Amino acid sequence: MEVTKEYKKGDFTVIWKPKLCTHAGVCVKTLPQVYQPKSSPWVNCDNASIEELKNQINNCPSGALSYKEQ
Ligand code: SF4
Repeated sequence: MEVTKEYKKGDFTVIWKPKLCTHAGVCVKTLPQVYQPKSSPWVNCDNASIEELKNQINNCPSGALSYKEQ
């Protein structure tokens, strides 16, 4: 089964699929206050607005990052 990690910010959820991640680092370069590979959890949604998170997620080159709103 595919491993999926979820990171919540209220009703907004960042979804990360580690197997798809090419570690290109686009996320880390764009929002270093959110994506901190050396921390656990490595995604800190509280450090950016939902709009900023969405814009960044849409730029993930591998499709490893996605999001859902409910
Ligand atoms: S931008 Fe996407 S592919 Fe690149 S390191 Fe981040 S999650 Fe992985």
